[in-house]
Amino acid sequence: MNFYGGHWDLGPTWNYAVLADKPFLVDSGRYGQGGNLLKMMRAAGIKPEDLSFVLISHGHEDHDGGLAELVRMTDLKVRAHAIYDLIIRKYPKKAPPGYKEDFPAKCWHCEMPEEFFTRNCVEYHRVLQGLRVDSIADGTQEIETGIRTCHLPGHSPDCLATLIGDEAILVGDIVLPEISPWPTRVALYEDLSQVINPLYSDPEAIFGLHRYIMSLKKLYEIAEQYPDILVLPGHRLYYNDHWNRIELGERINELLQHHRDRCAAILEILRSGPKTAGEIAREHFDENLLKGYGMLMAANEVISHCELMIKCGDLVAIVGNRYRSTGSTSFEKAI
Ligand SMILES: [Zn+2]
Ligand SMILES: [Zn+2]
Repeated sequence: MNFYGGHWDLGPTWNYAVLADKPFLVDSGRYGQGGNLLKMMRAAGIKPEDLSFVLISHGHEDHDGGLAELVRMTDLKVRAHAIYDLIIRKYPKKAPPGYKEDFPAKCWHCEMPEEFFTRNCVEYHRVLQGLRVDSIADGTQEIETGIRTCHLPGHSPDCLATLIGDEAILVGDIVLPEISPWPTRVALYEDLSQVINPLYSDPEAIFGLHRYIMSLKKLYEIAEQYPDILVLPGHRLYYNDHWNRIELGERINELLQHHRDRCAAILEILRSGPKTAGEIAREHFDENLLKGYGMLMAANEVISHCELMIKCGDLVAIVGNRYRSTGSTSFEKAI
């Protein structure tokens, strides 16, 4: 289970063994699950020795947590987007001052409190340090005959969707059934800039809700090209006793509408005057979603939408970390 706070449950992570000409695995489950994954594969008749590599859909712990253990037990090669290879490393001289020196670049922006990460993250990050990663470049890449990756950042800067011929597409956390994937904030680029510059010098090319929206639109083109393609998500393919079949174009339209609705709701909340992200989150989200770390997730959601609306001219940031609406609704054209 992936409970991060309040009632924000993603459901277990789906890892896929792709039985192509060169069989490979996509993702490796949460930290501590590498060995279990091997057992499950064996039970399903898939020999890990037959796999040629493991591909990481993106660097969130629920997708690469089991990776180091898996590689130690199998010698599998690791392939992931080029940004992943950069941000899983530690850079003590470049890290923000304080305890973050001991954590890789992908964690520098994390807002989880110390009691959370000392309990959950230290060992996970330590074991990823020695990992060799074969980097996959931006855009669309044919990584094996008939297997194409597509770099679609926004949920994280290193997100890849993987097309298996014209039969299936593995979308990681870019598109999920039932729930809307968490968008990054453009502001997260700041900490990472020293590590990923000069390769990635434009924050909005890899971070933020607007980038995520553009990635969804790119994926929509693929959906139009392959209308009957089987869509395999990183969570909730099966959840609460039912299977979710995703019709890709339809689901993308629902997600785009979800973000339009959320922008409109934030502007509505701001009609009574300027507010902080926390104040907006308390008005917008159900109380259940704000419990524990849920408040951090909710504020992140609000900030990513506010960033997009500032870019569109619908909001301005004012003193005291407040947002004020300008009266326009140009976000409707941007989403
Ligand atoms: Zn994720
Ligand atoms: Zn995930």
